[in-house]
Amino acid sequence: MLKIDKELCIGCGICEDQCAFAALEVVDGVAEAGENCTLCGACVEVCEPQAITLELEGANLKTDLDSWSGVWVFCEFRKAVLAPVSLELLGIGRKLADSRGVNLGAVIIGSGVGNTADELIGYGADTVYKVDHPDFEVFTEDRYGKILTRLINENRPEIVLAGATAIGRSFIPGVATTLDAGLTADCTGLEVRLEDGALLQTRPAFGGNIMATIECPRSRPQMATVRPKVMKAMEYDDSRQGEVVEVSPKDEELQSRVSVLASVVAEQGNVNIQESDILISGGRGLENEKGFELIRKLADVLDADVAASRAVVDAGWIPYPHQVGQTGKTVAPKLYIACGISGAVQHVAGMQSAEAIVAINRDENAPIFNVADFGIVGDLNEIIPKLIAKLEEQRKA
Ligand SMILES: Cc1cc2nc3c(=O)[nH]c(=O)nc-3n(C[C@H](O)[C@H](O)[C@H](O)COP(=O)(O)OP(=O)(O)OC[C@H]3O[C@@H](n4cnc5c(N)ncnc54)[C@H](O)[C@@H]3O)c2cc1C
Repeated sequence: MLKIDKELCIGCGICEDQCAFAALEVVDGVAEAGENCTLCGACVEVCEPQAITLELEGANLKTDLDSWSGVWVFCEFRKAVLAPVSLELLGIGRKLADSRGVNLGAVIIGSGVGNTADELIGYGADTVYKVDHPDFEVFTEDRYGKILTRLINENRPEIVLAGATAIGRSFIPGVATTLDAGLTADCTGLEVRLEDGALLQTRPAFGGNIMATIECPRSRPQMATVRPKVMKAMEYDDSRQGEVVEVSPKDEELQSRVSVLASVVAEQGNVNIQESDILISGGRGLENEKGFELIRKLADVLDADVAASRAVVDAGWIPYPHQVGQTGKTVAPKLYIACGISGAVQHVAGMQSAEAIVAINRDENAPIFNVADFGIVGDLNEIIPKLIAKLEEQRKA
């Protein structure tokens, strides 16, 4: 709770001005806190006479911050395949660990993990905690959560990163809650503040209109999830040395309240635009569902996959797995061709890491041209058929 010492308070009103939630008011020369207070602590920092203090009862106010050391990455392994985001997280994890001068740990949980654990060392890990047990063949939140929580409690890493994938999103928040730790979801940037080791976690906020940097300075570990394709993996280096620690699950960690009866892949989910080298993306400029026929033709000629803006997914012209952007997928293909897409911030957030961006739009002021490497101003119904004809001609030649 927020405590205001009436003897020390001079009624200057600086706290009132500082409070973003209008929760403080100076009444009769003394500050008073109202119901809107979120315990953010901004007023504590600006109060010169130190009349305001924050007492977070029962919260994870760690007084032993220095005893938490190391950066950890949860590496997702399912159906004998390592999720590519794991390597991307090892890439950023290595940078964070180096800037803190600490070890980079990786945790891999699954069945038949085999040499994948050793490979993680080549991608940047110093220590790999390998949990390899038949009961981890299928993912269940409670089993994964219990063992990861135990490993974190035993080893006390200061930072824990995980992919913002279906699996990461479903069990990492539970781990953070059990540990009473802060968690920032869907980060697009991570840095360490060298003075105090605070993890600066940047992510879009307020519908993608601002980038917010979040820190959890008083709790450990500092936990963040990161979307696939946002960070860059390191080149594999087989000369790197590290240690693989075999971890045996305890009996209670294998207990689960969930039985998985069957696992079915949704038909429309077969496309994985995050793995594509070339994406032809259609927006509302296609005018209707039929417009995607043109997009598919261009995609066929270029051996590409089809992506889309949210406007056309919402309109039902193409299913959700094709959506690029803040509430869709983040993609980083070699080539992204945006056809009839205006370039709203929420769309750009999901494709700006593409190596080359081509935009076709009849509005020369469309914001998509701000991020495009090549822009074609004109009607896509005229331009795309010409492009297809030219490409086919080149292919034949
Ligand atoms: C919280 C939130 C999350 C969101 N998440 C996403 C997201 O994940 N992904 C996403 O895409 N959007 C997202 N949006 C929506 C986003 O703000 C835009 O509304 C959306 O991206 C617009 O889609 P569009 O570019 O296809 O359509 P429009 O903005 O309508 O643009 C159509 C473009 O086509 C051009 N055009 C029209 N006819 C032709 C033609 N014949 N030839 C060439 N050009 C033509 C027009 O000039 C125009 O620039 C989100 C919004 C919010 C509030």
